[in-house]
Amino acid sequence: MRKTIIVGNWKMFKTNTEALAFINEVDGKVKTNENTLAGLAVPFTALSDVKKASKNLIIAAENCHFKENGAYTGEISIPMLQDLKVTHVVIGHSERREMFNETNETVNLKAKALLAANMTPILCCGETLETYEAGKTNEWVKEQITAGFAGISADDAKKVVIAYEPIWAIGTGKVATPEIAQEVCKTVREVIKGLYNDSVANEILIQYGGSVKPENIKDILAQADIDGALVGGASLEPKSYLDLINA
Ligand code: PGA
Repeated sequence: MRKTIIVGNWKMFKTNTEALAFINEVDGKVKTNENTLAGLAVPFTALSDVKKASKNLIIAAENCHFKENGAYTGEISIPMLQDLKVTHVVIGHSERREMFNETNETVNLKAKALLAANMTPILCCGETLETYEAGKTNEWVKEQITAGFAGISADDAKKVVIAYEPIWAIGTGKVATPEIAQEVCKTVREVIKGLYNDSVANEILIQYGGSVKPENIKDILAQADIDGALVGGASLEPKSYLDLINA
């Protein structure tokens, strides 16, 4: 049986002080077990303190560079994250693809570098409203997944967490219906099966993201091919975050 993994994505919200106050309030109250994992992707400035303060949460970075070091002003390397004992990194979020030139190629380079460092990429994919309305979601997502996993072995592919996030449902309050989310996550699993085999497809964790809230998370997680959620807005308040995890 696959685990459930629910990860909050704070984006560019919360100072280090605010982040620590949040962690101190929720960390002891999250009900996780070996089958349910809970995490938070937090801004770089909060990673060090949040990681030290949390006993029960997976702490993720929201991005990384694929090179070990170099003249890349403003970037954060994987060794820098490892030094903080960060284990997961969100890559290819649509906001980074749309606003910060993230491409399928850089997502792939980041995924490979993270896996080589024994870290877990949370690899995001998802289509715009235009692509959705043109009925091209499956093709689009197939292309993103195929490019994102290029050159990754089957053993490593299993360790990746995929997050399917339709862009039209992010921060808009428009959640994809559980049926739509399920259909696309099923397609993602089929793409993985085509690239690898049944065992990778059956083991890989696939999250849905886009306006997930305490009120709709149960229906989303009840879908056969959805193993968790990546949650923006509803992860920012302690009560709402705990309601998501402990739903
Ligand atoms: P949202 O964001 O839950 O606020 O829609 C999801 C995400 O961007 O990961």
